[in-house]
Amino acid sequence: MSNTRMDRVSAEFSKTVSGELQEVVDGIYLLPDFGNTTLIVGENEAAVIDPGLFQNGPRVVAALRKLTEVPVRYVIYTHGHYDHAFGTPALLEDAAVRGHAAPRIVGHVNVARRFARYRKTAGHVAESYDIQFASWTRAGVLGGKGGGEVVRKAHYVPPDLEYEDRIILGLGEFSLHCRHGLGETDDHTWVWVPEHRTIVGGDFIVSSLPNAGTPFRVQRYVLEWAEALEEMAGLEPTAVVSGHGGIFRGAKALEMLKGTAAALRWLEDEVVRRLNAGQWYEEIVQGVDLPDEMAQSSYLQPIYGCPTFAVHSILRRYTGWYDGNPSHLFRSPSAEVAREVLGLSGGGAPVLRRARELASSQQCGDLQRALHLVDFVIQGDPNRVPEARGLKAELLKARAEHEPSFIARNILSSAALLEEEAVAAGK
Ligand SMILES: [Zn+2]
Repeated sequence: MSNTRMDRVSAEFSKTVSGELQEVVDGIYLLPDFGNTTLIVGENEAAVIDPGLFQNGPRVVAALRKLTEVPVRYVIYTHGHYDHAFGTPALLEDAAVRGHAAPRIVGHVNVARRFARYRKTAGHVAESYDIQFASWTRAGVLGGKGGGEVVRKAHYVPPDLEYEDRIILGLGEFSLHCRHGLGETDDHTWVWVPEHRTIVGGDFIVSSLPNAGTPFRVQRYVLEWAEALEEMAGLEPTAVVSGHGGIFRGAKALEMLKGTAAALRWLEDEVVRRLNAGQWYEEIVQGVDLPDEMAQSSYLQPIYGCPTFAVHSILRRYTGWYDGNPSHLFRSPSAEVAREVLGLSGGGAPVLRRARELASSQQCGDLQRALHLVDFVIQGDPNRVPEARGLKAELLKARAEHEPSFIARNILSSAALLEEEAVAAGK
């Protein structure tokens, strides 16, 4: 994608973050934030779908209370991610202050299992959260250093009304059909409101190529994701609310659902076809990319998800970690290999020279090769580590410019900052 197009699409994607309340249909409202919240306001009671990040809870309460004084009967989690299911404490407090009964917290049975896993691996999740959301950078989406604090200090409010396949909740004039599907997570819910032919899709809908495999996270489900989107399309909704981004309406909603499902199915089929044809990991990761007609679709721009990451996800689903090269079965430590290579090159100096030469083109492939060369020096030539890390930081920043995916860019930019910090600390 050209830079101007990428910037335009990125601006489109981010303009709804922390945006104004929007009416989806009569009684259903979208409160855009980093993770969207949907408010459903009936005559006598209300529901909140995804109260968002912990710190967004008060904003959700304020938006709701501008619309209505009625009690919140249900808080529904589309899934247990930190940017969707953690604003609940503010809603519980609002209920207590008003003397309302506490809302029922509704979610798939796997939400509580996810929370247990988050607690078990909290250190890892917090650090990867910082990297994935560039919390260390000023442009970090969660407002600067300390995004991992969202994880470390998380206040878990698990569902007290759990379901496995589907559940229908009555809410005055609305019925909320909660349906489970596998997709970004194994605990996902999407909500169909038949009275208004409206779907609240959670992260099945992210206004981008789906985020179907992030480098830090557990398994995601590409095929079932497509099936869920097809089920949504079969209902012929007139409005579809995304988990990230905006509202899709009418023919565009159907086109988005069907087109996104087709792209996910294409990725799944292509990876499986190549696996069955005897290809190994590297050949598949290097070789699979969406066909042009899909890649051009405005619904499938890789601004949030990344096609390569989805390919990794599909491979992980169907194969083990063996990459097909027996040299990698019992790998030597990287530093030992680096020292052998630098012994042949006469130390790190000529390797860094070549890395700079490659980098001067600013081409993506050249920058990537330069990164591999610099790693040999960092791992194998202790005298040149600061110089090599400084160069690596520059290469990572330049490499990030070639990546439209928000997550890929964040990982590369965060890593650049960490390299600079290491140099400043004399490491
Ligand atoms: Zn999300």
